Amino acid sequence: MSKTTRSRDDTAKITDPSEDDLFKIAKSIIAEIYGKNSNDLLTYLMKNEYVVEETLSQDTSIKSNEGRKILQYLSDEAIVFPDKVKVGESTLHLWRLNKPALVAFIVKKLKRAKEKLDLRLKFESNNTIYKCPTCKKIYTLEDAYVNDFYCPHDGSLLTEEVDRDKRFKVIAESIEKLDYLIKKIERSRY
Ligand SMILES: [Zn+2]
Repeated sequence: MSKTTRSRDDTAKITDPSEDDLFKIAKSIIAEIYGKNSNDLLTYLMKNEYVVEETLSQDTSIKSNEGRKILQYLSDEAIVFPDKVKVGESTLHLWRLNKPALVAFIVKKLKRAKEKLDLRLKFESNNTIYKCPTCKKIYTLEDAYVNDFYCPHDGSLLTEEVDRDKRFKVIAESIEKLDYLIKKIERSRY
């Protein structure tokens, strides 16, 4: 079996992303910015397809000012849009989920992650890489030299990265998987 065939088989193990999978990806992306607290709000939003601003803290475990910040961010990304409903004498302010925008947001983030990996692969193939054994940060020869071969973050002695082929393979495979996932999502209709 050739190398190309094998890697194609590997990526084929990723099945079509379901709507649940997409929500999970979106949740983890947003949790990276707003912390795990945002999970509850997003779970609620994805389940009900809207959230009422007035009852936000009762419906979810999140404080309303925190929730508003997250909703503002989602609104900047067009993932939610504002709406109003009249209930008796009072008006409730809703945020409705825009699923196509959510999918576009995920694709945008995955593409950015892929670009970063592409750059890293390019960078590593053009430079001698030094690595910190403690925080795993990588440095070029120049950067390592400027810091006397010590990590500026934790003072550990930097060592030359010898496992280049293995690292290349890991990065290249991650790029391939991201690429595959992006194409799958783009081809799906949600
Ligand atoms: Zn370090």
